[in-house]
Amino acid sequence: MRKKNVVLENVPVTAYAAEGKALARVDGKVVFIEGGVVPGDVVDVKLSKSKKDWAEGKAIRIHTQSPDRVTPFCDHFGLCGGCKWQMLPYEKQLAYKQQQVEDHLRRIGHLELPSMPPILGAKETRRYRNKLEFTFSNKAYLTDEEIRAAGEDWPRRNALGFHIPKLFDKVLDIQTCHLQEEPANLIKNTIRSWAEARGLSFFDIRQQTGWLRNLVLRICTTGEVMVNLVIHHEDKGEREALLNHLLEKVPAITTLLYTINPKKNDSIFDLEPRVFYGKGYVEEKLEDFIFKIGPKSFFQTNTYQGEALYRITREFAGLTGTETVYDLYCGTGSIGIFVSRQAAKVVGIELISEAIDDARENAAANGVNNATFFAGDVINICDDAFFATHGAPDVIITDPPRAGMHEKLTAKLLEVAAPRIVYVSCNPATQARDLALLNEKYTVEKVQAVDMFPHTHHIENVALLQRRY
Ligand code: SAH
Repeated sequence: MRKKNVVLENVPVTAYAAEGKALARVDGKVVFIEGGVVPGDVVDVKLSKSKKDWAEGKAIRIHTQSPDRVTPFCDHFGLCGGCKWQMLPYEKQLAYKQQQVEDHLRRIGHLELPSMPPILGAKETRRYRNKLEFTFSNKAYLTDEEIRAAGEDWPRRNALGFHIPKLFDKVLDIQTCHLQEEPANLIKNTIRSWAEARGLSFFDIRQQTGWLRNLVLRICTTGEVMVNLVIHHEDKGEREALLNHLLEKVPAITTLLYTINPKKNDSIFDLEPRVFYGKGYVEEKLEDFIFKIGPKSFFQTNTYQGEALYRITREFAGLTGTETVYDLYCGTGSIGIFVSRQAAKVVGIELISEAIDDARENAAANGVNNATFFAGDVINICDDAFFATHGAPDVIITDPPRAGMHEKLTAKLLEVAAPRIVYVSCNPATQARDLALLNEKYTVEKVQAVDMFPHTHHIENVALLQRRY
């Protein structure tokens, strides 16, 4: 069973592993299975990797469907990379996520754990994202049936939708996406119809030709709607005609921007969006804090669950009003601002200087005057002199990206030895690794997972660490 390209037949899928892969055991070997299978299915697996203790492959046939399966609600399910867990009832999704947090903390972290309350599920499991980005492409992804059905005539080529996972130039045309509130679909479909009717060109990322590139939508719980249309080059006549048409058809839009991107890649971080209509930003609310979100700002994508996550973080921090709180990887300062009324002082640190500008502006707009923010790498900023200047931390809140914390930072945190650390994580595997390092001085007091992304395998997890005296 060391060979690749072997097909294992009639494999009963038993569990989920990390990253949404399913898991089975065959002859004592762990097999990770891709291809949308769920525990309870019996499948044939074509292996792509086979090592001594484990193998990896893709399900090529489902013999028996798990009794847990439900019918996916989206027409694009199966091709779209978006909501891959729709075939599982929501309660099952939550149970698997909870299980994964526990497995990671036990197996990677080898940690002694407190009893864990169940993961906090979302009330709204659809239309929960405040931000979506669609891509224009002249290389629509077509299924074999679509190509066959078209016969000699090559079928429609243009698409406005999402990239197909692992295919860099192919885009799946999306009619109705259930990830965001209306008028998201109305905006997208209005632009597509107009573009097709006027014969506007959709971008070709390989050839670097075409005009329409990306469409970024933000729909806030405050009712504000921001649209940023990214085009390859200026064409004033067509641009104004399109944007005016959009405003007329979708009066709910509160601000409309466009960005000219002549670069090879799609990122807009180094480009300047221009305001066509409205104030050029939107505002989102968490409790009674208001956050200004521009076309390039970062903000938690699920507002409701983001608020729940911050409440748990604040509760874990156990603030009484006298504490010096550090907010590491603070982004636009939202956690620090959220806890500021219960703290004496907040110190936020973040790599991206534009995010720090937003953090300062957000603090000022919310009347928060006990928070200061610093731009730079946490590893460079968090030295002895910095802690000496800004005060010994009573609580450190840390919210690193998926890779987790740098070893140098965990070493520093052990040295600084704040009484409490609240670790917010979007990847329980790296969190478990870091908690194991911090275990030298800290016990895990509380753990609470939060589901920010229903119908996906992504997990957010908050842990409270208490220093051992
Ligand atoms: N706490 C914020 C953002 C968390 S996302 C919120 O809740 O909105 C993680 C953040 O870490 C990102 O903003 C990213 O830019 C920042 N980051 C990544 N590596 C970093 C580093 N080495 N030093 C400082 N910040 C970093």
